[in-house]
Amino acid sequence: METRVRYAPSPTGLQHIGGVRTALFNYFFAKSSGGKFILRVEDTDRTRYSDEALEDLYSTLDWLGIKWDEGPIAGGPYGPYIQSERYDIYRKYAQQLVDSGMAYYCFCTPERLEALRAEQEASHSPEQGYDRHCRNLSKDEVQALLDQGLKPVIRLKVPEEGSTTFHDVIMGDITRENKDISPDPILLKSDGFPTYHLANVIDDHLMHITHILRAQEWIPSGPLHVILYKAFGWEPPVYCHLPMVMGSDGHKLSKRHGSTSVRDFRDKGYLPEAIINYVTLVGWSFDGEKQFFSKAELEKDFSIEKINKAPGVFDYKKLDWFNGQYIRAKSDSELAALLVPYLDKESLLDGMDEQAKLDRVTAIVPLVKERLVVLSDVNDMTRFVFRDPGMPDAKTLCAKGHTAAQEYQGLAKAYPILRSGLESWKPDSEIEQELCAIAPELGIKVNGVFMPIRASVTGSQVSPPLFDSIRAVGYDESFRRIERALEVLKAC
Ligand code: GLU
Ligand code: ZN
Repeated sequence: METRVRYAPSPTGLQHIGGVRTALFNYFFAKSSGGKFILRVEDTDRTRYSDEALEDLYSTLDWLGIKWDEGPIAGGPYGPYIQSERYDIYRKYAQQLVDSGMAYYCFCTPERLEALRAEQEASHSPEQGYDRHCRNLSKDEVQALLDQGLKPVIRLKVPEEGSTTFHDVIMGDITRENKDISPDPILLKSDGFPTYHLANVIDDHLMHITHILRAQEWIPSGPLHVILYKAFGWEPPVYCHLPMVMGSDGHKLSKRHGSTSVRDFRDKGYLPEAIINYVTLVGWSFDGEKQFFSKAELEKDFSIEKINKAPGVFDYKKLDWFNGQYIRAKSDSELAALLVPYLDKESLLDGMDEQAKLDRVTAIVPLVKERLVVLSDVNDMTRFVFRDPGMPDAKTLCAKGHTAAQEYQGLAKAYPILRSGLESWKPDSEIEQELCAIAPELGIKVNGVFMPIRASVTGSQVSPPLFDSIRAVGYDESFRRIERALEVLKAC
């Protein structure tokens, strides 16, 4: 039988690391077993629905290069794949359960249910939830209420005795006493809209889903779903509830730990390759050794047997490390193409056409390639190349432990050496040696020679390698900045 899995998010917020991990596991499982990956939008909760969330779902999967075989836009034989376009289907199947005696109409008003809840609370009754008041209404009673124009909800008959068990690939058998399962949950609301349970089960069945890989927080719904499958006379799919994604402090990953939305990661300049690789390793491993996986490798090598039982820890530092590795694996021109938008956002490349931008940025890639953690780091690292950083204050120009007067002397002596060295194409190492020799002559530290040069050209005490930075800025502009610094130091 062909493997068919689905990612079934509710578009209520931005795609986050946990959700995307579920999507990736489903996708890779489908690919590695030669099956189909289906995207289904579970948007029946209209109060929490957002257009932005739906857009974000599509753009996130698109950015990651995760294509769905069936789903919205792509279509497929079991569509529509957006639940809000399937209401007629849910109504029909809910009615079928009523007709077969597996579900029933409930006419209880919100007021009655509220009074019931208050009473249960006041009397500390062990009975919680709906009291099954309408479960045994006779046909005639039901008809009479319908004739009055009352709009019922449809509730599932959960057995009062016995227990329900389902098997989970990762967790083993999970059993729940039926009396502990929510008493007769609503399947169809009085406005004709389905609840999550009904729509989810019907769709998984009608879409021929063979395996359900979803977050462990859905385990409590498992027994109910199994009862629902039975009520329909359908076979439930194989369950595989995925261990939680935790922050490094052992709590469920949340905003407290840092960004969790994939859009944030994308904006900061994480690469899709790094996200895919690292996020897939949160709770899964191939042989416990291999760390680097391309998407193509995962499409081949992923298996649900290797999913860990224990919760996975999402470590931001580790993702940073992966991202750096993937950045360094790019060619200079590939990387330049990725960096241009970040520099563009700050208007640093204004006045250049696309090709000029690419050429210019490709030329400075060697300055940053070894040190970028995320793409957006390029702005702070190279802003001085594109824009005059302005005159740094005297403090920035002076190396630690050096006075402005010392630094003036140092720079005044260093500048002509640097300038003639660069202009006569002397090797960098030679120029460097000559500059170093100034230090003992003036009784200052080597750092005291280089700092004012670095700070005047780049505007900062930390920068990419000095001579490369000077070349990236251009000699004329660099020399102008140094001369400007000399004036300032002189006046101190
Ligand atoms: N719509 C549910 C969610 O947002 C789907 C749960 C499931 O995969 O069954 O996670
Ligand atoms: Zn009722």
